[in-house]
Amino acid sequence: MRVSRVLLSILTMVALVTLPQAAQSQTSGTLDIYLVDVEGGNATLFVSPTGESLLIDTGYRSDGRDAGRIIDAARDAGLTQIDHLITTHYHGDHMGGLAELTARFPVVHFIDHGPNQDPAGSGAGFIEEYEAIYARAMHTAVRPGDTIPMAGLDVRVVTSAGETIATPLAGAGGANPYCANFKPGTNNVEDPLSVGIHVTFGEFRTLHLGDLTKNKEFELMCPNNKIGTIDVLLGIHHGQQTSSSEVLVHAIRPRVGLMNNGTRKGGDPEVMTTLYTSPGFQDLWLAHFSVISGQEYTVPGLFIANMADGQGPTMPITPEGPVQPGTPQPPHNGQAHWIKLSAQQDGTFTVTNARNGFSRTYGSDR
Ligand SMILES: [Zn+2]
Repeated sequence: MRVSRVLLSILTMVALVTLPQAAQSQTSGTLDIYLVDVEGGNATLFVSPTGESLLIDTGYRSDGRDAGRIIDAARDAGLTQIDHLITTHYHGDHMGGLAELTARFPVVHFIDHGPNQDPAGSGAGFIEEYEAIYARAMHTAVRPGDTIPMAGLDVRVVTSAGETIATPLAGAGGANPYCANFKPGTNNVEDPLSVGIHVTFGEFRTLHLGDLTKNKEFELMCPNNKIGTIDVLLGIHHGQQTSSSEVLVHAIRPRVGLMNNGTRKGGDPEVMTTLYTSPGFQDLWLAHFSVISGQEYTVPGLFIANMADGQGPTMPITPEGPVQPGTPQPPHNGQAHWIKLSAQQDGTFTVTNARNGFSRTYGSDR
């Protein structure tokens, strides 16, 4: 009797202690987002609470550098494959690393905006190779309003191939007061075609619009705000001034931004100012220190994940100003660090800088 009682209590303890742990390895309970440093390209990895994954873009072709950094993040999340890969548009900083990634890590489902429309674009040389890769897998050209199936999340396409959602997202659709002061921007061919997604996890909301430019932001946001408000704005087109109008940023009111800039790419003073003056904006986290921002416009180093390889002891204070196309960036091919965001169902989220371990938790806003 005594023995069986002891045995019973041991079994109960084992069940209590081990079962939740076993379950935890399958389900983290959080939506995790990794901003992988791909030197001013884009690679943003979503991992759902049940371990389903969505990667947005694959960085540059770079002798495996960017692919390796993406795989490091995927392995950190316990992934053995990428379930969905969105290529937002056909530029080399967004799809250059695709073949190097897929050669080393399985990708199940390829998603894009459809045919390439820019034969002279920086991704044109990758298209044939890309088509051959997705021909052996699942492939979807998405349209605004489509959803990408991921358990526990609502992943909604809001822009693609130059079109924007026809009807507002749930709870959105109010008049946008910033439309009256909109100043049109400049476009290349491919950026405005970017696949953009809105992701909802419980009370948490985030938006990644690829490199969508200001004129498309206007179509998405005017006269009515079809997005509503969000918690976190991702990507931000590297912080380049062809995107991130007040019509978008100030109306969606992100509390936090994660910017995929490079050492000499993005972090433009105009975009930094738009973010800093956005109502309710709290913190901007950067993939890189950028000489384009200089210390004048950048954020405290605690919020910056990467420096250059031969980083000097002091940072330039003055923004470097517009860069001639083709000007090489200060190289950063050594160890790279991601910024990781973990969101809870209740809308609380924590952002961590993997370089220095600095992290901050933001309470639910809803
Ligand atoms: Zn880009």
